[in-house]
Amino acid sequence: MQETSPPSDGAPPERPAPPAAGPVSPDGERPAASASSADSALARSLAQVRRLAGAGWKFLSDVARYYWGMREALWEYIAGFAPNLMSESVRMREVRLAPYESHALAEYDSSGWKATVPGRCVVCGEPTPNAPTDETRAVDDASRAFWVPVAMWLTGTALAIVLWSRWYLILALPLGPVLGYWLRAKVSVQLRLARCDAHAARTNIPQVLVWGSVLVLRFGHKIVRKVFLYGEPMGITVPQPDAPTSRPGGAGGTPPPTARPESIPLADSPAPEDATIQHDRPPAFNADDENSSPVVP
Ligand SMILES: [Zn+2]
Repeated sequence: MQETSPPSDGAPPERPAPPAAGPVSPDGERPAASASSADSALARSLAQVRRLAGAGWKFLSDVARYYWGMREALWEYIAGFAPNLMSESVRMREVRLAPYESHALAEYDSSGWKATVPGRCVVCGEPTPNAPTDETRAVDDASRAFWVPVAMWLTGTALAIVLWSRWYLILALPLGPVLGYWLRAKVSVQLRLARCDAHAARTNIPQVLVWGSVLVLRFGHKIVRKVFLYGEPMGITVPQPDAPTSRPGGAGGTPPPTARPESIPLADSPAPEDATIQHDRPPAFNADDENSSPVVP
């Protein structure tokens, strides 16, 4: 299906042996011209069939290789929408960006995503003086790789039920991944990020996933997520990995002083009597106050 050469363009390069040995008959009589042309036509069509089978086999193995390579991304996609399957530590380090949201450090256009993580190592979250590097990744769209086969299977199931023939389902089972591979899409993600000297080789962090139009970044430390989303906290150093959270359980006294340093206290709410609207009514409700309940006279 890549190159469809016309069937009339000469003999195939590798001719099987039997036609060459055919004309040499033991009797020494010359074979009929029609037999020889039939032989060559047969060889040509055999070669054609073999080439088609080879292309089909290659395509199917490409499909299998594609989905085998996508197995982790597909699992992350499924787990990403089932909160029980996602660990808390991943959730704390993850940002999901949609193109219609506005982000200071990320943008989406027709060429793909661009995201910048300034100033901090994406692995450990420590401030680093190292210059940021640019990385460009082409990430497979896991949403499409998931939903195209599933839609195909659902269609096959529906047709099998409505038209009462299991062949629709049997056909849809292999056709789903084939169509998913056929319609696969990659999204370009340009990252500008820094790594400290100790983590210069950890290029697998951040983990980059593409779910349709949503970009998912999973950093190495939750502070990177906070800085990415909310900016640098004022005068706060990076807490060492999860040290403050390991306080003895149930000690419900004073909160640890380092917890959520950048949280903004809410405005003080007014007292309830100040918050209610006072109508121009004479203060005649003193009598009601004597009755504690309106049903008790
Ligand atoms: Zn680091």
